[in-house]
Amino acid sequence: MGRLGFVGCCYLLAPWMGLDSFTVDPRIAEVWPLGGVGFVLLTLVWDLDRPSLLGVLGAMVVVVTVTALALGQPPSYAVWFGVVAVLQPLAMAAAYRRGRGAPGWSPRHAADVGTLLAAAVVSSLLVGLLGGYPGLALTDLPSKVLLWWVLRNAVFSFVGGLILCVLLHREEPEALAPSAWFHRVGLAAVAALCVVGTYHDPSLPLSWLLIVPSVWGGMTLTVRGTAWLTLYVALVAAGMTYLPQNQFGYAGLLPAASIVDLLVVASSAFALLLALMRDQRARLIEQLDARGRESEAQRGLLEAVLDAMEEGVLVVGPEGVRRHNSASRQLLGRPVPLDHDIAWSETYGLQTLDGQPLTDDVLRRVLYEGEDGDRLEVRVGRGADARLLEVSAQSVQHGTRASRLLLLHDVTAQRARVRELSSFASMVAHDLRGPLTVLDGWLEVVEDDPGQGEAALARARDASQRMRQVIEDWLNYAVVQEGRLHPEVVALDEVVGGLVESRRSAGLDHDEPRFELDLAHRVRADPGLLRQLLDNLVDNAVKYTAPGEVPVVTLRSHEDDEPGWVRVEVVDRGIGVPEGEEERIFEEFHRGPAEGRSQGTGLGLALTRRIVAMHGGQMTARRNPGGGSTFAFTVPAA
Ligand code: ADP
Repeated sequence: MGRLGFVGCCYLLAPWMGLDSFTVDPRIAEVWPLGGVGFVLLTLVWDLDRPSLLGVLGAMVVVVTVTALALGQPPSYAVWFGVVAVLQPLAMAAAYRRGRGAPGWSPRHAADVGTLLAAAVVSSLLVGLLGGYPGLALTDLPSKVLLWWVLRNAVFSFVGGLILCVLLHREEPEALAPSAWFHRVGLAAVAALCVVGTYHDPSLPLSWLLIVPSVWGGMTLTVRGTAWLTLYVALVAAGMTYLPQNQFGYAGLLPAASIVDLLVVASSAFALLLALMRDQRARLIEQLDARGRESEAQRGLLEAVLDAMEEGVLVVGPEGVRRHNSASRQLLGRPVPLDHDIAWSETYGLQTLDGQPLTDDVLRRVLYEGEDGDRLEVRVGRGADARLLEVSAQSVQHGTRASRLLLLHDVTAQRARVRELSSFASMVAHDLRGPLTVLDGWLEVVEDDPGQGEAALARARDASQRMRQVIEDWLNYAVVQEGRLHPEVVALDEVVGGLVESRRSAGLDHDEPRFELDLAHRVRADPGLLRQLLDNLVDNAVKYTAPGEVPVVTLRSHEDDEPGWVRVEVVDRGIGVPEGEEERIFEEFHRGPAEGRSQGTGLGLALTRRIVAMHGGQMTARRNPGGGSTFAFTVPAA
């Protein structure tokens, strides 16, 4: 609103200033601000609704007509003059807005400055052709005076429009840093001197000086700064023209006054163009910096993601590895040199699954030349450290270069698990087949000779119990492998009490076992798993006591050396764990040399150690000096 009020006031003064300076030469005014101010006024009201815009246009016509009447113009001419004087800024605004091709008024690019200049020239020519300049009759056409008028009006419209559009409409924040004070003060002084120098002599020998402030300003000021500079130069120049001694004459086709007009256009456009270009450059640099920072951040993120991956990732091209993550280094077991071709098989000791050296040709065929998704399984390293890697390849674009993305997946554990499961399955089948054969045999005996029924049934029952044990071990193992812990406070004597009770009535091969209990502690453990663990240990203690002997099992607890832990020991007086196998007996499916004497799957101790580990504790086994074994484990105290 403030801007509209200010420009409106300027518009009230503009026709008067122009018509009043209409004295220098009989035909042409010295200053002619009407077109420029009118144009800027229209830019401020352009987006109003149609009736308001028409109202403003009407008011503009009235202002010009009334001023012309007041300054003694005949009424018919005053009205015509009023209409045409408004038509020109209207045509200029419409042409500029259309040519600019985007909303907004402040010039952003060099092309916008050119569009504004073209709009100013064409609309000024239109006014001239319609005989809208004071003192220019249609009968004068074509004449030098028309040329001068068009030039003057175009210059004032263009320069005024340019300055005010930047000052009133520019919305984007300045990309250029504000200039130092000495540039501003120096420019003000030098610009004033240059204008005075230009006006010093109507033959214009020093007029080129005007280029100095425009270059200086264009190179150091912000875009707005150059608009202020141009306004300042224009005001100083306009002020100078009011001095009678400074009026250039109108002689020849292009008189000195018109040359000054052109100079003002050139210097103001030049300053602004320079500043706009610097502004654009600064914006581009800012964008580039932002993109650079963004891509740097993305690169960091990608790197972090790659390094956090368990899979090895390698990007390879014909000249070697271009990129890799830390997992690939670990999986291959050696550093991966970048950007130089390596003999893969030799460097990393790659072999086929059956241990044969893998030739680079095979590798190359699958990894470099194969289809996307092709896979290859390779063995890396030898002995206990050997790993099985599944390598898959895919084509990717790395920068501008075509590359292959290799994913290394460690399948050692997976393959071991598959092997383990298949041996587990065959062992279960084997373990079940024995008792089944026994069962079949005894059932046949009963069929053939029903008199043997009692003995046969007892044997058949043994066989079925044996099968039950195999199945239970199998199930427990599977459950504990996948299971979750639900710890709670458990009194050891309660768990063991229940367990001992059930055992007293189940002794088949042995006399009823004897238990010695000293379990005063409470622990924090999963009651179901703890029971299973103790059950296994007690089971073994009974099982690995020589037939005919009464199994004696001692269960005791005491505080562990490590604070917060309770140590539980299961001591028997049986055959003792096989010498030197105190650790191996905890391996899955491992059975001691006593296996011939007892039934089992070799899973019981693996299971117990796993349960202890799930609670964070440790488990050991040892032979007792006086015979038998001690199995000890730790659990968190309650
Ligand atoms: P399984 O009893 O089914 O063979 P385990 O994992 O429970 O499987 O035990 C593995 C091996 O450890 C047994 O084969 C046996 O040699 C040995 N072992 C386990 N407990 C005892 C024990 N209390 N006394 C002697 N040896 C034992």
